Amino acid sequence: MQTLALDTYPIHIGPVAESLSRTLQQQAFSQLFVLADENTKAHCWPLIAPVVQPYNPVVIEINSGEAHKNLRTCEYIWQQLMEHRAGRDALLLNLGGGVIGDMGGFAASTFKRGIPFVQIPTTLLAQVDASIGGKLGVDFMQVKNSIGLFCNPQAVLADPAFLSTLSDRELRSGYAEVIKHSLIADAAQWGQLQSLTNLRQADWAQIIPASLNIKKQIVETDPFEKGLRKALNFGHTIGHAIEGHALETDAPLLHGEAIAIGMVCEAFLSCRQQNLPKAQLEQIADYLTQVYSKVALDPAHYPVYLRLMGNDKKNEGQAINFSLLPEAGTVAVNQTADAGPITEALDFYNRL
Ligand code: NAD
Repeated sequence: MQTLALDTYPIHIGPVAESLSRTLQQQAFSQLFVLADENTKAHCWPLIAPVVQPYNPVVIEINSGEAHKNLRTCEYIWQQLMEHRAGRDALLLNLGGGVIGDMGGFAASTFKRGIPFVQIPTTLLAQVDASIGGKLGVDFMQVKNSIGLFCNPQAVLADPAFLSTLSDRELRSGYAEVIKHSLIADAAQWGQLQSLTNLRQADWAQIIPASLNIKKQIVETDPFEKGLRKALNFGHTIGHAIEGHALETDAPLLHGEAIAIGMVCEAFLSCRQQNLPKAQLEQIADYLTQVYSKVALDPAHYPVYLRLMGNDKKNEGQAINFSLLPEAGTVAVNQTADAGPITEALDFYNRL
C-alpha cells in the first residue's frame, strides 16, 4: 500500500479491502451509502462488499455514462439520501469512474450543505486524474462540468485491481493522462513508458502513484486553477475540440483518444514555438500513434475545431491558449497560437 497526502486527505494506492477498512474505522458516520453504476455494481462492488456489508450500506445505483452526468441523476441521488433519512453525518462512497466521482462528490457536497464522501476510482482515468484535485460537478445545457464546485473527499482509495475488468478501450483512454503527466513533468517516466505497448502487462502499482504524484504537486501549487494548473491542459486545447466535434458524429471518441491526437498536434506546436527538439516530437508522435489508432481528421472540419477552441473556457481574449513543451518533462503555460500554426499541426498529425 502506498499513501500520498494531498491537502487534508490521504490517497491510498493498493488493495481496496485494506484501505477501505482502515478508512471506515477512522470515520465517525451514522449511515453508509454507496453510489455505483451497473458496471461498477457488477465488477467493483464484490471487492468492497465484504468490508462494507457489516455497516448495512444503502447502494444507490445509477445508469453509467456521461449522458447521465446531469442534475436529473443528482436529483435521484438526493431523493435516495432523503428517503433513507441521511443526516449530515452520513458517508457516501463513490464507486466508479470519473462520472460517478464528479457527480457523487457534487451530490454529497451539496446535500444538506455537505456530507463527507470517499472517492473509490475504478477507471484508470479516475485513478490518475479525476479523483484528485477537488473538482466536482455535472454537465448542464450540453456544457461539460458547468455546474459544480471545489470540495475535497475524506480519502481517495485507488486499487489497480479494479482495472482488470475495464475494457481495453477505456484503459487506453485513461492512459493518455498518464502519458500527459510524464510529458509535462517527468522525463524519466516518459522514457520508461515508451517501452510499454501492451497495457495489460503494465505495472500499474508503480505507474499510478508516480502519475498521481505529478497531478498532486500541480494541484497543491494551484488549487483553484488560477495559473500553474493550466499545465495539465497540454494536449487538451486541440484534443477537446476534436472530442467535442466527434461527439456529434456517429464515431465519437473517448476523452483520452482525442487527447492523444491533441498531444501530437500540441507537440508539433511545441516544436515550432518552444524549440521542443525534433527528435522528441518524433518520439511523441511515434509512441502515441503506436498506442492509439490513427484517426483521419477531415480538413473540412478544421474550421469547426478552430471555433470550438475559440470557445474554450480557458482562453483569455481572442488568442487561443496552449500549454506547450519546451522539452519532454517540462511545460510552459499561457502560450498562444492562431489558425495558421494550428492548421499545420492538424496536417502534421494527418500525415503520420
Ligand atoms: P466513466 O466514469 O464514464 O467510466 C467509463 C466506463 O467504465 C463506464 O461505463 C463505467 O461504468 C465503466 N467502469 C468503471 N469502472 C469499471 C471497472 N473497474 N470495470 C468495468 N467497467 C468499469 O469514465 P471515466 O473516463 O472514468 O471518467 C470520465 C469523467 O471524468 C468525465 O465526466 C470527465 O469530465 C471527468 N473528469 C473529471 C476530472 C476532475 O478533475 N474532476 C478530471 C478528468 C475527467
